[in-house]
Order: sequence, then C-alpha cells, then structure tokens
Amino acid sequence: MIEVKNLVKTYGNFKAVDGISFTAENGKITVLLGPNGAGKSTTIKSIAGLLKFDGEILIDGYDNHDIEAKRVFGYIPEAANLYDNLTVREHLSFIKKAYDVKGDGYEKELLSLFELEEKVDVTAKELSKGMKQKLSMMMALVTRPDSLLVDEPMIGLDPMAIENTLKLLKKLKDNGVAVLISTHIIDIIDDIYDEAYIIDKGVLKAHVSKSELNLNSLKDEFLRITAGDEKHE
Ligand code: ADP
Ligand code: MG
Repeated sequence: MIEVKNLVKTYGNFKAVDGISFTAENGKITVLLGPNGAGKSTTIKSIAGLLKFDGEILIDGYDNHDIEAKRVFGYIPEAANLYDNLTVREHLSFIKKAYDVKGDGYEKELLSLFELEEKVDVTAKELSKGMKQKLSMMMALVTRPDSLLVDEPMIGLDPMAIENTLKLLKKLKDNGVAVLISTHIIDIIDDIYDEAYIIDKGVLKAHVSKSELNLNSLKDEFLRITAGDEKHE
C-alpha cells in the first residue's frame, strides 16, 4: 500500500505539487489522472524516492526512503533507464542480484509475455523504443513488487503490447499488488481502474471511485475539472 500525505514539491520557486494526499491500496488499480504538467511524474518520482519533497510517503507502512520500502516497490519510469551496452538478460540479472531474486521462472514468463525471448542477448541500444519500454517494465516486475508505480506506461507501445500490459496490471491487482498508474489518457485506464485521483496544476481536484460511477463519468469529470486549462491536450 502506498500512502501519500500532504506532498509538496517545489522546483526553485515553482510549486509543481501543492499538498496532494491519496492512498493506493493493495488489490486495486489506482490512477493519477491529469493533463500534461499536472504533477503526475513529480508525484511518482517522489514516491520512488528520487526527489526531495515535503510531506510524508509510506509504502507498506515504511517511510519511502527506508530500505524496507525500497524492497517492496517497483517503479516503471516514463522513459526507460537502461544501460546501452548491457543485454536484456544482463539487465534482468543485475536487478535480480540487487534484489536477491532466486530462479528464472518468472523471468521466462515475462520474456514470453512481452515477446522478447529472441532479444535476450541483444544490447539495449539495439532495441526499439517499445522493446526498451518492455524491458523497463520487466525490470520492475521481476522482483515481484508489492506496490508498483507506473508512469505513463503505454507511451511507445504497439496496441498488442498495450493490451498485454493492461492484462498484466489487472492480474497483478488480482494477486493483491497495489498498482499506481499515472496517465493523461483516460481511454487506456477506463476499463481497469478502481480509484482515480484527478490532479491539475499540482492540486488534487477529485477522487472518483469506479464503484460509484458509470464508465463515461470519469471522462466527464476529468474534462469538467480540467476545462479551460491551455496545457490540456
Ligand atoms: P506531468 O507528469 O503531470 O506531466 P510533471 O510532474 O512532469 O507533470 O511536471 C509538473 C510541473 O513541474 C510542470 O510544470 C513541469 O514543467 C515542472 N517540472 C517538472 N520537472 C521539473 C524540473 N526538474 N525542474 C523544474 N520544473 C519541473
Ligand atoms: Mg509525466
């Protein structure tokens, strides 16, 4: 479970996130929905422990900077962070060593799911953008995280890969993982979200529970709340 309490992040004089609080529970897909520049990546990076911030972030009850917290979450960044000269297999081995992951059953399952079996010995610089994204996802998943942070996951993926990724996120949720996805594209998460937090200009504007709404209303709500925002695309 991820608990964000009164998160404030300033870059210089600019307040990118201004007092956001929300929870992403285990067994649910929670979405941070907001237009470009809303503060989604800043929030996700804060949770991942990559930024200094004010407020409090707990992962499974641990402060997000604690080693116990780092052990239980996975982070899929907006843009893949890879080593050009390492192969797919070497990337996965590196993560498995760092997290003390035993066996290669799940790794094989992921390679098959993302259709990267034929690329295991290919270096990152030889992968297409979509393949890099897939490798980045596998690196976050191979540790079997209890909480998963996913920043704009589907950018650069082909339709089949998007479909597979959505199915996988749903399966993780069914297995009790707390999945937190940031996106500005409602259509992608419409079918799978449980809780949506709509943010705009660093402020939490609404919390929408799937159980309390029909499918169209999330879009209506989002458009209503972000109407008139020139940055909205
Ligand atoms: P989103 O992911 O919702 O599109 P971001 O969290 O990336 O939004 O950015 C939120 C705001 O913070 C934007 O106005 C962006 O320009 C600003 N911002 C993001 N990163 C930095 C940075 N490193 N330095 C200065 N401003 C930043
Ligand atoms: Mg972003």
